[in-house]
Amino acid sequence: HSLNYEVLSRRIFNQIREMWFLISSQVKRMKNIVPKPGYEDVLNFLDTYRELNQITERDFEELVSMDSVSEYKDSLALELSNIVQKRIFTLQNPKSCDTAKKLVCSLNKGCGYGCQMHHVLYCFIVAYSTGRTMIIDSSGWRYSSKGWDAYFESVTSCKDFQEAKEWGYDHASHQVVHLPIVDALFPRPSQMPQAVPKDLFDQIRMFHGHPFVWWIGQFCKYLFKYKPDLQREITEKKKALGFKSPIVGVQIRRTDKINLEAAYHDIDEYMYWVDLYYKKLAISKSFDKKRVFIASDDTSVLIEAKKKYPEYEFLSDSGVSESAKVSRRYSDESLHGVISDIEILSDTDLLVCTFSSQVCRMAYEIMNSKHTDASQHFRSLDDIYYFGGQQEHKTRVIWPHTAKGRSELDLRVGDVIGIAGNHWNGQAKGLLHSLQKTGLFPAYKIEDIHDVEEFPVPKE
Ligand code: GDP
Repeated sequence: HSLNYEVLSRRIFNQIREMWFLISSQVKRMKNIVPKPGYEDVLNFLDTYRELNQITERDFEELVSMDSVSEYKDSLALELSNIVQKRIFTLQNPKSCDTAKKLVCSLNKGCGYGCQMHHVLYCFIVAYSTGRTMIIDSSGWRYSSKGWDAYFESVTSCKDFQEAKEWGYDHASHQVVHLPIVDALFPRPSQMPQAVPKDLFDQIRMFHGHPFVWWIGQFCKYLFKYKPDLQREITEKKKALGFKSPIVGVQIRRTDKINLEAAYHDIDEYMYWVDLYYKKLAISKSFDKKRVFIASDDTSVLIEAKKKYPEYEFLSDSGVSESAKVSRRYSDESLHGVISDIEILSDTDLLVCTFSSQVCRMAYEIMNSKHTDASQHFRSLDDIYYFGGQQEHKTRVIWPHTAKGRSELDLRVGDVIGIAGNHWNGQAKGLLHSLQKTGLFPAYKIEDIHDVEEFPVPKE
């Protein structure tokens, strides 16, 4: 099993996916062009193609996990996770808190839970990159006056952080620094997302399709260790819901997000992917029920889903949706709700949501800390994965392209493109560096350029 084999097989898997995005969206486009009787034939063709595409994907998944490759990947992933957890532990529990370099992260960012936790994760990355022990200051937390330690295990044995100086160009000369929000961070360490550590990179690539997501997942794994009461509450909630595989997690972000930060997506758009998931599963397995766990900040979503899709079993904590609404959002009750929703979403077999939502991205990150490789266990209706405040996400052209129409870019192999998004219809959009021109191109003609950086290794 070699790295080249791994990289090529991931490329092929991606091409199988992109074939579906391309063909299905072209067929849907024909709806207004082809007369009705003819269009029915077209739909039949699409369903035949769907089956072929899914069988190919399935067989391909089996092929790449043959000959104990899965076992090899699982054990490598576990080994690496143990190394990273130990490194973080060492950093977070220095021999002497009095002399250790520290970084204070305030939990007072004026935004939602997912956004706040991403702030903590960003603090953690900067702390790790600069050899500092991270301390969370949760005084004045808008979700709970009880603070971080009422919900999660302490992240460090160090407590004292009175002498913190604001992060700046002289940060290295201060023993304790306090971080601003990511948009106001100057200077920015080179290890900012989506950078991955050089000494582990080639090994991570052997088992994971998106090395940064694995890396951030390791910080989630360290950070989100629930207190026993909360853990019990989540476990009982899952049991009461009848949580069981196969299960798809759908998160529908509505209320205050719509038209400000994201577009409205109808429930049908989410269920389209759920339906495809179960169709693929049915090719090779029999299962009792088509289960869907729904999380949302809008109570009406569950009612609509049940009415429109009676053949599915919907699991949802509707009490949570009530407290997730904007008017009741910042409370302990709402906090319990969003924590358990994210945790349960992260335990599903497939996550269908919008990556523009931090709740959705967090569930995906945590999901990836629980599997050897869950990088493909998602369908985002909008953005590709990103980490707020990240450096430019660069990709490299792997196949040449001649622009078809004015909106497309001409591409040469090796060109660098800053990716802006995937339209999930075969096309992606990005900024071609050489011409500083933004345009469209086939999504399967590019590949990520990983930002590989040196990270200091915490010493015992
Ligand atoms: P974003 O606004 O979707 O990017 O995510 P944030 O986490 O920053 O803010 C949204 C907040 O709304 C969350 O933290 C929750 O308090 C609430 N919320 C949004 N979606 C859900 C959901 O699916 N379940 C629950 N329980 N709360 C949600």
